[in-house]
Amino acid sequence: VNHEMLQTEKLAAIGQLAAGIAHEINNPVGYIQSNLNTLGYYTDKLLALVDGCKDENLAKQLRQQDYDYLKTDMTELLQESNEGIQHITNITSALTQFTRRSGFAEECDLQQQINTTLRVLQNEFKQKARIQRKYCDKPCWVVFDPAQLNQVLMNVLMNAVQAMKNFGDIVIETETDGELATITITDSGTGMSEETARRSTEPFFTTKPEGEGTGLGLSLVYNIVRRHNGTLKIISEIGKGTSVIVSVPLAQRHPSNKSITA
Ligand code: ADP
Repeated sequence: VNHEMLQTEKLAAIGQLAAGIAHEINNPVGYIQSNLNTLGYYTDKLLALVDGCKDENLAKQLRQQDYDYLKTDMTELLQESNEGIQHITNITSALTQFTRRSGFAEECDLQQQINTTLRVLQNEFKQKARIQRKYCDKPCWVVFDPAQLNQVLMNVLMNAVQAMKNFGDIVIETETDGELATITITDSGTGMSEETARRSTEPFFTTKPEGEGTGLGLSLVYNIVRRHNGTLKIISEIGKGTSVIVSVPLAQRHPSNKSITA
């Protein structure tokens, strides 16, 4: 393998990510700036009104409808600005996950980790999906940073729930096959077109309305799984649902894996 070539590819990937980040952040920064300008202008007008209370002529200038208009517009500008800031915060907090190394990888049991994640999401899921677990009959020990495994499961499960129109089914299946452990998360949601499925792991690719998706979820999943020597596969059909399949090597040395990997 040409090392220099890999380095160039890496730099190109970083450049692409940086351009994406700049684009995503510049947009909300742009309208927040313009909203602040408008709000500053309104503030001046309102201050003039306060002064004008001493001066009846000025007070008459600002009629009720002006006041109503100002009030609605200011509320909207503030709300939009807050959403923009939320969007930026979502992106930066997702991005900090990208740079985390799997230095804290340890032997952990997949089923146990899934149960931990599900406990956190249980309330959120109650009204939206029925969750079915189909675990293999043995614990599956893998070498994974538990916090990042939780992040992977959380992102995939949140996507699954968000893909439901009303109520739906989510099946979480674990399997071992030779030296691999596989988690398959299948939802009965909207499914994806071929193009959406292909692009779904691209950073910032999202089909969700602005403010609801950062487009970083699956790209983060892909990065984390790859860093743990695993693979990610997505199978989807519009109107039927989606399966996200994560495979990672079984922990070779763990005693309870011996019989499987031997
Ligand atoms: P986000 O959820 O912020 O949009 P993701 O990277 O997690 O970002 O997902 C990218 C896109 O992939 C989503 O906007 C959606 O179109 C599609 N997608 C991901 N998971 C699913 C799923 N389970 N069902 C349908 N579409 C999905």
